[in-house]
Amino acid sequence: MTLNFVRIAYAYDRTRYHPPEVSGKIATAIVSPVEESFREPVFLELGVGTGRVGVPIVARGYRFVGVDVSPSMLEVMRHKIAGVGRKVRLIEADARELPFERGSFHAVIGVHLWHLLDDWQRALLEAFRVLAPGGFLFEGWDVAAAENEDWRIQEKWREILGEMGFELKRGRHQRRLAEVRQAMEQLGLEPVEETVAEWIEERTPRQSMEILEERLYSFTWGVPEELFRPSLDALWEWVRDTYPELDQPHPIPWRFVIRRTRLPE
Ligand code: SAM
Repeated sequence: MTLNFVRIAYAYDRTRYHPPEVSGKIATAIVSPVEESFREPVFLELGVGTGRVGVPIVARGYRFVGVDVSPSMLEVMRHKIAGVGRKVRLIEADARELPFERGSFHAVIGVHLWHLLDDWQRALLEAFRVLAPGGFLFEGWDVAAAENEDWRIQEKWREILGEMGFELKRGRHQRRLAEVRQAMEQLGLEPVEETVAEWIEERTPRQSMEILEERLYSFTWGVPEELFRPSLDALWEWVRDTYPELDQPHPIPWRFVIRRTRLPE
């Protein structure tokens, strides 16, 4: 996984781009409840990546620590916060074994992380260990409306791979989120879920194909090398027939969901 992220670090923001007003809404949804409960709060983000969610929080002047196992992702974030990052620490560390004392943070953030960890339970327990009493866990994720051309292209690829004998599995992230919710409820916690921003991304069929070709999404990583190229060649044929204008953008309606869970005080 680390190797994959070395490759995609700079490409990451292209596939998971948030318009500025969306970044602002996400930051507000995270910092507001924490601000109401704590003076001078300290934020920790697990799997901070390129700082898509963290940078807007840093820009508002909060104390912030980001951890990630990928030095390349952290490097991209370091460039973004150069000059505004005096209250920031970026640390190469594993979310499953955090190098922090119990109760060090008022909020822990995790966006698009759980599905990458087979033993996510360890990371969840670590998050709770480093949170102060009354602290908040924020999980966040992007959701695309099911009916869009990008999705249609991916579904066609799934069909092609199926004909080649390979089952492309999707939806791992949503399943994992449900497991994490269940684990938290079993601990007596009460996660609250909310859509905090909605926006439209314009993506062309050529861009949809590039994203698949570069294996930017984790659901593409399991496709064996020997099927990868032939299946994409077949998909290109279908895409060229279906979309004569390869650079004609199609809208993808997105929303960003935050699940907020508060520890007892
Ligand atoms: N949270 C960022 C965002 O939404 O833009 C990045 C999400 S990216 C899909 C997942 C990130 O988690 C990557 O930067 C990856 O290096 C990091 N990661 C994967 N496993 C990790 C672990 N065990 N501990 C900490 N970070 C991890």
